[in-house]
Amino acid sequence: MRRRVRIAIALPFLLLAVSHLEVQSLHAADEERPRWLQPYHEPANRLIGEALGSTFAWDRLALLTDTIGHRLSGTPALDRAIQWAVAEMTRDGLENVHTERVMVPKWVRGNESAEIVEPARQAMVMLGLGNSVGTPAEGLQAEVLVVHSFEELDAQAASARGRIVFFNVPYVNYGETVRFRAAGPSRAARHGAVASLVRSIGPTGLRTPHTGALQYTSDAPKIPAAAITAEDGDRLQRMADRKSKIVVRLRMEAHFEADAESANVVGEIRGRELPDEVVVVAGHLDSWDVGAGATDDGGGCIVTWEALRMMKKLNLRPRRTVRVVLFTNEENGGRGGTAYRDQHRAELAKHVMMLESDGGVFRPLGVGFTGSDAARDTVKGIATLLTGIAADQVTPGGGGADIGPSVQEARIPALSLDVDGSKYFLIHHTPADTMDKIDPVEMAKCAATVAVMAYVIADLPQPLAR
Ligand SMILES: [Zn+2]
Repeated sequence: MRRRVRIAIALPFLLLAVSHLEVQSLHAADEERPRWLQPYHEPANRLIGEALGSTFAWDRLALLTDTIGHRLSGTPALDRAIQWAVAEMTRDGLENVHTERVMVPKWVRGNESAEIVEPARQAMVMLGLGNSVGTPAEGLQAEVLVVHSFEELDAQAASARGRIVFFNVPYVNYGETVRFRAAGPSRAARHGAVASLVRSIGPTGLRTPHTGALQYTSDAPKIPAAAITAEDGDRLQRMADRKSKIVVRLRMEAHFEADAESANVVGEIRGRELPDEVVVVAGHLDSWDVGAGATDDGGGCIVTWEALRMMKKLNLRPRRTVRVVLFTNEENGGRGGTAYRDQHRAELAKHVMMLESDGGVFRPLGVGFTGSDAARDTVKGIATLLTGIAADQVTPGGGGADIGPSVQEARIPALSLDVDGSKYFLIHHTPADTMDKIDPVEMAKCAATVAVMAYVIADLPQPLAR
């Protein structure tokens, strides 16, 4: 209720602000901006105005997350989301709407729990790691060895045998700390550990566990592995510091079932002159099986899809085709991204640009970019059209997990939507990844950023330089 009131108050001011900016930017256009950019001021301002003029994107994401919820690969929920997206894209008037079949792994979490048995019985808040094996049905009970790095584990190799190894590594940033989740279980198993726990990969929240995929290596037995909250990690650490004997009981039903049929969802605005040349904007429709998959990555799906819906609504048809792809199975397999590369191999050379949004739909800062210097200069020019919503940064490092296989194979210029990331890893892969974390105005600005980038790049007289 409070949110509704806030939107109602904020919108008129926003619209005023946008139309004011429109006037400013049109004045600036004549004097300061390069000539090649001049035809794009008007469509860019229309796209920005359309995005900010309603809460359409937020409402659509709320509908997805409220009525379908989380969407792990191989679940009926993901199937429903795929069917829903096809129906809605068709209703939006997108062209060539279809699915592209992908076989995906089906990992099932089942029931799970972790409890401290000694020095006193206490439940912990945990989430099994994606792709983990389960424990025996009665669970698995062992003494805990706490380590803080792989080096410390290797130095204590002898005492890891028969133990549950707990990687209690403080969160620095995702790139730095995620290796303890991904590689920790096999590193521990190599020394004879029977299970592995990891301190959740994220800043300390309110006793919130973070799941995410692990990667077993072939040189060690597969042992069950789970994340526990930072708070429970601190508790185990205090016990270890007191030299208490810590015994934990872990129960996990996690297992794989046969691969399941899934699909990437595709919709297009066909190009008016060069329909075979393609600009792709994308997110991933699958999510972990906790929370609602709102930020990771329902939001990315909706804001990239919005770019096409708004072009259609405003009757903006660029020179080249703009294609939205909602990928399947990013989280625990990446099969959607590799399938797209394989199924579209013949036309990858005609992919002019690929953009992925998978870092949340918080306040947009601009785009990350990977590609040639000439293309970067062009993207920087286009970004000036987004100065009015303060989303005009172009930083090194564009791309995404789903577009990655195609981008690498054909050296396609790659963009990512860059947003204020301060809240992302608090909720990433947790039960707290829900709709209430997303602000409708910030999300609308994300849609505007993607739409302007995609439209202008698709319409330029020359494709972005490879
Ligand atoms: Zn994601």
